[in-house]
Amino acid sequence: MKKIFIYVLGTAQDGGYPHIACNQNCCQEAWKNPEVHRFPSSLALVDMNRQKYWLFDITPEVKSQIHMLNDFGCSLAGVFITHAHIGHYMGLVNFGLEVLNTDKIPVYTMPRMRDYIENNSMLKQLIDSDNIELISLLKNNILPINSSISINAFEVPHRNELSETVGFEIIGNKKSAVYLPDIDSWDTFEDNLVNLVDRNDILFVDGTFYSKDEIKNRNIEKIPHPEILDSMRRFSNLSSTNKKKLYFTHFNHTNYILRNDKEAYNNVVDLGFSIAEEGQTFSIN
Ligand SMILES: [Zn+2]
Ligand SMILES: [Zn+2]
Ligand SMILES: [Zn+2]
Repeated sequence: MKKIFIYVLGTAQDGGYPHIACNQNCCQEAWKNPEVHRFPSSLALVDMNRQKYWLFDITPEVKSQIHMLNDFGCSLAGVFITHAHIGHYMGLVNFGLEVLNTDKIPVYTMPRMRDYIENNSMLKQLIDSDNIELISLLKNNILPINSSISINAFEVPHRNELSETVGFEIIGNKKSAVYLPDIDSWDTFEDNLVNLVDRNDILFVDGTFYSKDEIKNRNIEKIPHPEILDSMRRFSNLSSTNKKKLYFTHFNHTNYILRNDKEAYNNVVDLGFSIAEEGQTFSIN
């Protein structure tokens, strides 16, 4: 039996790192040093037995992210989309005639996300040209994608202008992971998260801001995401084993974690939580 594993393809917020037109402290060094650039949040699920992989969110940087998987020799078997914010679906446009011209790649979505794709002429063209095939997901309904892996979509509160927002449980024979890159706040979801931590082994969760004081030139009320400091306070009662399962991801360009700020980084690790990094792998079989 070969490995089935999660591969972290990106850990930044939708705009990536550095951020477009940002000349502030947060991005200055990153413009000079491509090594510290980070792609928008995305995971691959790689099945070496079947030589296939699935993407969880498909970002505007999908070209480079798929290239990161090159050495595994696997082919794309499908895409799961959390919601209609551009960092999470915009990479789909590369599947069209102009670029990859894929053949009926399964794209798994919830109903509103499906409507959005079907009514957006740029994305609808992918259906009309048989580049993608939409497959509907129902929330809290475990969907086997083969005999070793199942996927469960669960709804989360987020600013849902164009679609609902889901997180995914990726369930293997031995272990399971959660991908939950965007949520407005834990206020109405705290108990759900505690349950998810209990029944899963690795959880990638929204760590957009380290602390909300990092946002200076936009109204923070209009970009609701939990701050890592608050999340660590809320979940401080989890056992040390459970805390360690929580990997923060989806970092805004202003987030100290992206700048390798040792104080912020060490604080997260010292308090017993984890930080997602591009290229990390986690076996689930
Ligand atoms: Zn996002
Ligand atoms: Zn910046
Ligand atoms: Zn979002």
